[in-house]
Amino acid sequence: MKFFKALACATAFAAVALSSGLSAAAGYPERSITMVVPFSAGGPTDTVARLVAESMSKDLGQQIIIENVGGAGGTLGAGRVASSEADGYTLLLHHIGMATSATLYRKLAYDTLNAFEYVGLVTDVPMTIVARKDMDAKDLKSLIDYAKANKDTVTVANAGIGAASHLCGMLFMSAIQTPLVTVPYKGTGPAMTDLLGGQVDIMCDQTTNTTKQIQGGTIKAYAVTSPKRLDVLKDVPTAVEAGLPGFEVGIWHGIYAPKGTPAAATERLSKALQVALKDPNVAARFAELGTAPSSDTDATPAALKAKLESEIARWKPVIQAAGQYAD
Ligand code: ASP
Repeated sequence: MKFFKALACATAFAAVALSSGLSAAAGYPERSITMVVPFSAGGPTDTVARLVAESMSKDLGQQIIIENVGGAGGTLGAGRVASSEADGYTLLLHHIGMATSATLYRKLAYDTLNAFEYVGLVTDVPMTIVARKDMDAKDLKSLIDYAKANKDTVTVANAGIGAASHLCGMLFMSAIQTPLVTVPYKGTGPAMTDLLGGQVDIMCDQTTNTTKQIQGGTIKAYAVTSPKRLDVLKDVPTAVEAGLPGFEVGIWHGIYAPKGTPAAATERLSKALQVALKDPNVAARFAELGTAPSSDTDATPAALKAKLESEIARWKPVIQAAGQYAD
């Protein structure tokens, strides 16, 4: 009798624990985790994800495997994670596009604010306005003149509607009041290959993809979108200095999990993220690429949730004014 009572108690406890997600997170993680990057391998989002995932893996004692699911400005990869099992073994590392695509797309396969749990903010990366190496324009003003004079043939690479490069390109075209020819890729990794080969003319992309190329002289840099010049690109003026008033964009990145992922798992992941962001190797690599790790306060579920909500509200009127939507 005693045995059956104990068994009943244990079963009841297990049911409560399971429904609250506790048992799912006890001993978590017990196997490898997949982190979806919603852009091509070799691009800036991929670079940030791989750096952070490698260090988080050490703290978690389990491998984080990167899966690149590029296309449709990051919305395909986000959709894949939204419909994945909410067990803590599938994550998404996405950037500002998570917020802008909520307005840019008339129809998404997921409801941005209700389809995810939050792990934390990772980093905020400046953008750079760059062009192929043999572009004649000496500074941003001459680049703008050239683009205006050749608007039907000047091409601007981006990673699809909803990508950071799309947002930055859209802001650039609206600032110079000239629509240019856009060329979409599954990520700015492959777009960079075409910029290096001279197949496209201009791109606005994260420093995590452009710094080494600018330093190596394989592409031309016209401006950084940060409020101040960057230590690693001292000769490159800010867009404001170069003649585009108010042109400041920071590409924040965050880690998400499917809605319903146990809080104990997202909290554990957030702790691992905080450890990774303090890893001297990660900090050094971030510094080389012109960015900095998020603080412990920002690398939390609450901070990422607040950021996503405020950024959706911030970009909605800008996108509505531009009137550019995707289906
Ligand atoms: N930089 C890309 C973007 O435009 C994304 C990437 O390829 O990582 O959003």
